[in-house]
Amino acid sequence: MFMIVDKPVGIVRLVLGDQLYPQHSWFTTVEDNVTYVLMEVRSETDYVPHHIQKVAAIFHAMRSFTSELQRCGHRVRYFRIGDGDNVGTIAGNLKVVLSETEADSVEVQEPDEWRLDVVFRTLSDQLNVPVRIVSSEHFLTTRTEVSEHFAGRRQWRMESFYRYMRQKHNILMEGDLPVGGEWNYDADNRKKWKGNPPVPPLTMLSVDVSEIVNEVRSAGILTVGEIDEKNLIWPTTPEAAEQRLQYFATNILPFFGPYQDAISSTERTLFHSLLSFALNVKILHPWKVISVCLDAWKADPDRYSLASVEGFVRQIIGWREYVRGVYWAHMPEYAEKNFFNHHRPLPVWYWTGQTNMNCLRTAITSTLTTAYAHHIQRLMVTGAFALMAGCDPDEVDTWYLGVYIDAFEWVEITNTRGMSQMADGGLLASKPYLGTATYINKMSDHCGTCSYDRTKRIGDLACPLNSLYWHFHHRHRDKLQRNVRLAMTYRQLDRFSNEERTAILDHAERILSKLDTL
Ligand code: FAD
Repeated sequence: MFMIVDKPVGIVRLVLGDQLYPQHSWFTTVEDNVTYVLMEVRSETDYVPHHIQKVAAIFHAMRSFTSELQRCGHRVRYFRIGDGDNVGTIAGNLKVVLSETEADSVEVQEPDEWRLDVVFRTLSDQLNVPVRIVSSEHFLTTRTEVSEHFAGRRQWRMESFYRYMRQKHNILMEGDLPVGGEWNYDADNRKKWKGNPPVPPLTMLSVDVSEIVNEVRSAGILTVGEIDEKNLIWPTTPEAAEQRLQYFATNILPFFGPYQDAISSTERTLFHSLLSFALNVKILHPWKVISVCLDAWKADPDRYSLASVEGFVRQIIGWREYVRGVYWAHMPEYAEKNFFNHHRPLPVWYWTGQTNMNCLRTAITSTLTTAYAHHIQRLMVTGAFALMAGCDPDEVDTWYLGVYIDAFEWVEITNTRGMSQMADGGLLASKPYLGTATYINKMSDHCGTCSYDRTKRIGDLACPLNSLYWHFHHRHRDKLQRNVRLAMTYRQLDRFSNEERTAILDHAERILSKLDTL
């Protein structure tokens, strides 16, 4: 008797550069009818100019992942950026592999970016074979869980989703109540850092990516930023990522909370984890991050304040999952949002760091040299300036999407357009995240050595933030004045005498007319 087995002759499975999760169920057994494909393609390197460290780190992570798959016995077809048969697009290269292997179906993991979702939806027609989409098995929520949580609500505040996640997964809970009695200890997390406690040294495994950098340059790919080709510090393998995680949990996490909002001109990374790249390319799983951090705390609770542990857990199970849910609920319209109708070009020094404003120079220089700036620099320095100056969110997005090691659209655009530029009209942010020099001085050591005077609002030496702040609130009064969280700001604006207010606004106008020279 014959039995007809409906098994595909061959399957081609595509692994994207941000889908390098070694524990994915695809890889649990070696199947001889499966060929994995990884590809370095121009369609991914060229949609914005990326930081050279980002391109090198992703390619290195992909190549390391490929070696590991091959070591485990999987068949892998890899396209390097300079390979003669690399067509440069996902569909084009898949066609090459389908004809090489005579496979009759393709499988892909759910992508994280709208751009790729669109490509995947038409892939079957382009390739003339069935295309099956499976989960990437990385996130703690489905694409729609956030929108289901907020169904029918006008504002989608992260805090509400975060509490849902804490309860659902029983994290930092005592029965139905949050450990310690509060859900959120942010009020304890606003210290300026004055040199103490000392910041533990960066102990990242550095890798030599000079071969990759040569290939990228030979291919003529446009990149930004600098790189030390022999010493790339970003973890590109699961082992290196785990090593960084363990180091963070033991040495840095105890101080994460109190100094989370601090900014320093000497210690660029302060008490941040530097895990975003590893998480976003999936060599590190968010549950692993949570379990290592909670275990470290439980093993030695006296070393860790609850504010640090809760604050960090919130970033991973709260913010990270939340922004992804917002992204999938609101794309592709989200990428067009421009609530304030801002259209000014981004000042040229965003691409060079050459400005006399200490806070911006430091944040941008560190971005260009390391492909990193921490959250408060992104939000309250570069983001806040772009918003006050009325820069076009398209230009702001291009910058953020290019310059950061961890920038992938699902997390970049929600943070940039939503949280930082409030271009979505306040879906994410309850008010614009802005500050004058008083804020920068409170949280950093920048103002003391700046060419501008933090105490002045007008005059050549006055810190530009001090007039731009008022100009922003003045010009958007119709959109913002009814926001209760801005009541004090508008009361203060109205308390200026007419003469004083006019002088501040005129000064801001002058600054706006010469942004490139600040
Ligand atoms: P830590 O401060 O140590 O935080 C731990 C982890 O929490 C991060 O690795 C990250 O995975 C997660 N996390 C923290 N805050 C957020 C947040 N707001 N949204 C999502 N996840 C968060 N993050 C990116 O991963 N990619 C981006 O492209 C990106 N663009 C941003 C743009 C702007 C304008 C702003 C204000 C923030 C952006 N963020 C982005 C969020 C945040 O700044 C980075 O995740 C963080 O700075 C990465 O450094 P870290 O790993 O040392 O983070």
